[in-house]
Amino acid sequence: MNHHPKPETLAAYAAGALDEARAIALAAHLAMCVECRRGVADFEAVGGLALEALDGESMSPGALERFWSRAGLQEKAGAAPSFGGDIRIPEALRRHIDGDFDGIAWKPVSKGFSQAVLDAKGYRSGALRLFKIDPGIRMPRHSHGDAEFTLILKGAYEDELGVFGRGDFADLDGEDVHGPRAIGEEPCICLIATSAPLVFRGLFEKIAQRWVGV
Ligand SMILES: [Zn+2]
Repeated sequence: MNHHPKPETLAAYAAGALDEARAIALAAHLAMCVECRRGVADFEAVGGLALEALDGESMSPGALERFWSRAGLQEKAGAAPSFGGDIRIPEALRRHIDGDFDGIAWKPVSKGFSQAVLDAKGYRSGALRLFKIDPGIRMPRHSHGDAEFTLILKGAYEDELGVFGRGDFADLDGEDVHGPRAIGEEPCICLIATSAPLVFRGLFEKIAQRWVGV
């Protein structure tokens, strides 16, 4: 696995600031990536400490202990992935997909390229879809009006940013332009989450806006 979410994306996930579609895509990557699970746990711990600091002007008694206790979550977060025998569909996606990728109602878009739109009905839903791209087929070069996550679930593709295989995560902003081409022997199946604009909510709002810089 060579491509991971940006640190600010992990922070936004920890702060509950991602829309449903992007949170699902990120959770599916976390199910496959111990490194990023640790990153999210770190941001959660740091967020807890920062909240303590905001609560009172100076840090309240016991805050440091609570920080380390929260940081202890790192071990738990680094535990084995929770999905069972079937590693083809990450657990975070299971409730969005009935059965295997073969059971999906693929809709042809063009030669060698089909898609399926998934439900993402939670917080500021965003748009979530699966792409299936046959080997050798190249998507037209495009940029994105807004942030887009792509998680490779099966097969591989190559674009201006490199080679993306199973578990790899393309964390693209609106400026990135790419034209992925499926490579290898099997179709490339990837999960695409397109965002609603990033808006922070709840207690994390102030610190997240300050720390993440959005
Ligand atoms: Zn990762």
